[in-house]
Amino acid sequence: MLDRRTGPSPYPRGDMIVPAAVSALNSLGIDVGSLGHRVHGTRMWHGDRSVPVRWPDAARSDNGAVVKRDRLDEALRNRATTAGVDVRLGARATTPLVDRGFVRGANVQLEDGSTTEIACRFLLVADGANSRFGRGLGTHRDRRWPSAVTASTLVRSERSDDAWIETHLGPLDANENPVTGHGWVHPLGDGTLNVGVMVSSSYRDVLGVNILKLLDSFAGSISSRWKFDPSDFLVEPVRRRTPFGGSIGPTMGPTFLVAGDAAGMANPFTGHGMLAALTTGQIAAEVLDEALTVGNSTTLQRYPARLDESFAQYHKVGRLSARFLGRPLLLRAALRSGIRSETAMGGALRIATNELRSEGDDGGAERAYRVATMIARFAPSW
Ligand SMILES: Cc1cc2nc3c(=O)[nH]c(=O)nc-3n(C[C@H](O)[C@H](O)[C@H](O)COP(=O)(O)OP(=O)(O)OC[C@H]3O[C@@H](n4cnc5c(N)ncnc54)[C@H](O)[C@@H]3O)c2cc1C
Repeated sequence: MLDRRTGPSPYPRGDMIVPAAVSALNSLGIDVGSLGHRVHGTRMWHGDRSVPVRWPDAARSDNGAVVKRDRLDEALRNRATTAGVDVRLGARATTPLVDRGFVRGANVQLEDGSTTEIACRFLLVADGANSRFGRGLGTHRDRRWPSAVTASTLVRSERSDDAWIETHLGPLDANENPVTGHGWVHPLGDGTLNVGVMVSSSYRDVLGVNILKLLDSFAGSISSRWKFDPSDFLVEPVRRRTPFGGSIGPTMGPTFLVAGDAAGMANPFTGHGMLAALTTGQIAAEVLDEALTVGNSTTLQRYPARLDESFAQYHKVGRLSARFLGRPLLLRAALRSGIRSETAMGGALRIATNELRSEGDDGGAERAYRVATMIARFAPSW
């Protein structure tokens, strides 16, 4: 396993680990509770109204957690090393090694600037949202499909131990209009908060949104309640794009697979991608294990089908919803009606975390999702 980084990630991201991702990590033997700060759910806000919503399926013992990404990365690396993986840090895969049309490894640049070749039978590309290595293998993002534009920072706060995160739906742009996206506050339990904003590229007026200014005004609007100084960001915020909703492909070649953000698998409702990265990584591991066991690379063809089974319908509904909510009038109407009720917000969170109840035990959210699924079936792919 190669990672070009040796030290911590330069900016905060990927620290809200939803309950399903906590379960996935626990099943890998990673004790999320000891790594981060447990949170019971999210306070949904719009304007001056707020509704606390617990994570769906409160019966499950695994709560969500806010975990500093560096700590999680280290725990994952240690787990891999214990399982026998040769983990090399400061090793950047630059270009694929190709032999008669088959990828057989990578040219790698090491920390001291020297280069080497590392050969492999199969290769898993998981180099994140920009995925230069993936592009070198022919993957591309469908630019007609929406993506998430984000910016975040860390601030010091005495409320860092709060047991709830916050999600502010439709933060206001410079003209005081709500944008398609959300602002967040993630208390890290270590004296700091991660504060950030996300805007969907489907928002009709997205070109007029300056994400860094949006972060400034969002931070200013919540700073007194969250007890932090909005002029004292501990990390310089930068603009980032997270592709979502399965917008990158192909996800396999004859000897390689693509997972996580490199495959554009993040959640189209939230822009969160830790669960998708873990799930796609797990599916890839199962497929590669079988390919290595039977010694036959045709097994890799199962990977796109397995991704479709797990994600295709949800992604399509998510992309459609992003389009729908990209229209300011529809967005305003949805925000006005949604934020009034705990039941509606609970339903929205079940959809956003893909934790829908089964038929018989369902509510309005599940019925709305079923209708959206039917519409999505006939809608164009974007
Ligand atoms: C501001 C922001 C906030 C976010 N907040 C959340 C959140 O709270 N919860 C959530 O679930 N998701 C969140 N996300 C999304 C989440 O961070 C990603 O979906 C997730 O990190 C995807 O994981 P990944 O392993 O696919 O990619 P990454 O986490 O980007 O990991 C890619 C790895 O590949 C390495 N790498 C890159 N290129 C090379 C190369 N050429 N050779 C070797 N190594 C290489 C990198 O060093 C890195 O370690 C956020 C995203 C942003 C931008």
